[in-house]
Amino acid sequence: MKVLVVGANGQIGKHLVTFIQDTDGMEARAMIRNPEQASFFENASAETTVVDLEDDVDAIAKAAEGVDAVVFTAGSGPHTGKDKTILIDLDGAVKTIEAAKQAGVKRFVMVSSFDTRRAAIQAASSSFSPYVVAKHYADEWLRDTDLDYTIVHPGSLRNDEGTGQVTVSQDMDLDIAEVPREDIARVIVAVLEQESTIGKEFQVVKGTQPVEEAVRSL
Ligand code: NAP
Repeated sequence: MKVLVVGANGQIGKHLVTFIQDTDGMEARAMIRNPEQASFFENASAETTVVDLEDDVDAIAKAAEGVDAVVFTAGSGPHTGKDKTILIDLDGAVKTIEAAKQAGVKRFVMVSSFDTRRAAIQAASSSFSPYVVAKHYADEWLRDTDLDYTIVHPGSLRNDEGTGQVTVSQDMDLDIAEVPREDIARVIVAVLEQESTIGKEFQVVKGTQPVEEAVRSL
């Protein structure tokens, strides 16, 4: 299975490309926006493709040509303005979904945020709510497609070493808690391996159940 990782140079993205490369039968194509970022991926023997999420759908679709799955784990981050929240977290995600459709790639894994329901928008602080709005509508856009999607809703991301153990819930009823980015990357690999996750979405925080078992339980 060849997987296009959108946001490959990000903190989850780098773990994910490494894990994919270490998994039998899987290989990654890292989508980066700057050629200078390529060396990390070349060292991992992963393909790279240079596309900016502010480019058009055709450019992203070209990057997705010939892959079996797309993972969206890009984000504008906390240090840019609301313009980038719209351009990357919302429109970048929607363009990636449209690109997958255009390239004929059915499998799509979205790294969303912990809670993107309408109530979470209303409950968010004024500085955080534009991000929740962006994630809400990106998730909605994906649900409205006929792609084989899975939406992962991680808790509060940390750079602690992963434990390989998590807690998951499809009922979206977990209390917000931390989760290592490394474990989210492991969860994404398990999701890609398990077709039973198609059409599902779930929250994930640090926990006590081995990742593969937790994902299989969904
Ligand atoms: P990250 O380290 O900030 O990585 C985001 C990646 O997106 C970076 O590689 C960045 O590229 C890329 N990107 C940004 N703008 C781009 C553009 N115009 N074109 C192409 N790529 C672009 O993020 P993370 O911590 O791994 O998080 C990944 C995902 O989890 C995001 O979707 C985030 O919203 C979501 N999330 C975060 C939290 C949290 O607690 N922070 C919780 C739940 C979900 P560069 O490397 O070139 O900058």
